[in-house]
Amino acid sequence: MTHWQSLLQFDQEHIWHPYAKMPADTPAIGVAKTQGSIITLSDGKELVDGMSSWWAALHGYNHPAIQKAMIDQIETMPHIMFGGLTHEPAIELAKRLIKLTPPPLQKVFFTDSGSVAMEVAIKMAIQYWISLEQPQKNKLLALKNGYHGDTFATMSICDPDNGMHRLFNSTLPQHFFAPAPQKGFDIDSDNQDIAEFKTLLEKHHTEIAAVTLEPIVQGAGGMRFYRPDYLRQVRELCDEFNVLLIADEIATGFGRTGKLFACDWANISPDIMALGKTLTGGNITLAATLATEKISDTISQGQPGLLMHGPTFMANPLACRAASSNIDVLLASPWQENIQRIESHFLNTFHSLKSLPGVADTRVLGAIGVIELERNDLGETIQHLAVQNGVWIRPFGKLIYTMPAYNIPADQLKQLTEGLKTAITQALQR
Ligand SMILES: *Cc1c(COP(=O)(O)O)cnc(C)c1O
Repeated sequence: MTHWQSLLQFDQEHIWHPYAKMPADTPAIGVAKTQGSIITLSDGKELVDGMSSWWAALHGYNHPAIQKAMIDQIETMPHIMFGGLTHEPAIELAKRLIKLTPPPLQKVFFTDSGSVAMEVAIKMAIQYWISLEQPQKNKLLALKNGYHGDTFATMSICDPDNGMHRLFNSTLPQHFFAPAPQKGFDIDSDNQDIAEFKTLLEKHHTEIAAVTLEPIVQGAGGMRFYRPDYLRQVRELCDEFNVLLIADEIATGFGRTGKLFACDWANISPDIMALGKTLTGGNITLAATLATEKISDTISQGQPGLLMHGPTFMANPLACRAASSNIDVLLASPWQENIQRIESHFLNTFHSLKSLPGVADTRVLGAIGVIELERNDLGETIQHLAVQNGVWIRPFGKLIYTMPAYNIPADQLKQLTEGLKTAITQALQR
């Protein structure tokens, strides 16, 4: 047995992967190294990365400026507790986040993962109403087809049908669900979805602390895009019915949809915003929850007067430094042109798939390309064929999707779409 064969065997027998069996039916693919948009496997084969490690690696892997900042931070101070102490990396990052996000968002809470950033967002919203002596406002209004994480509070606002509600029903808190927004970014809508959303708020606003949603792009709950006008109307209704708005920008934040934040499409500001995934450019785990001064003041003036959260690795300096560097690299790059370039390339190349028997829909927004199949059992086959064609993707169910690094070179972008198209065509012909 070679060195890698024995490693992969150990992995298969002892290490859980996301949403996986133990031991796994098939071994995971070993990765030896990364560079830019290229993933080099243990056998030396090179794959063009179509996933950006689940939205995160905005500038590809091993970006020299981010690496340099991280190495410098490792030598100075990789970690220090945040209780009673502070440091420049956290302050520098908070300054950037406050400057870039909509103006009312002024207060920053750092955590380690997207799910926890959403947990903190939910906790802030509920504590806000407790502080106003309205503890009965402790429910959330979420959207069907949403995804907000895998922890218990976030599971309870994921899609009630394709999420984990059935499995954990006895332990999950019960919240309200509005129909998913009508599919389509550029549609003329009859606003039936908003009408149903409004009916729920009218009926239940005295029990609702906050609306939670992913602005414009519903990610893992269906890869669905919806119109900015829906988001604008949700903001108005939240104000009308005195309910907070929590925007989960964990996947969409930092440019993916073509705007810096997806909320910018509707020119709205949420009361609370969660950032994660993309924050460090995929280099190390970090998340943040931003809130308005009104929320922080209310919580601080209520009982017990403290925001009741404080993770051990809060505001880890190494991660904060990576995040600031990631943001600086993004803003110094022609990211809008890059995203437009990827968007037009996806529109041109995926269009021809639409007429293939077995393809239900293709859709593109910013640097996100989605091919929705009619069958939901071809994902693994397509992933396998894509790897044979030199491409890394990770379909789920009937959704084959890709969100490459913004700076993916043109030849690799072409390789990615060609490999993907070939894999889908081959799988559908079987
Ligand atoms: C991935 C994701 C999360 C959860 O983030 P984790 O870092 O996996 O905990 C939450 N919301 C959205 C929109 C996501 O895409």
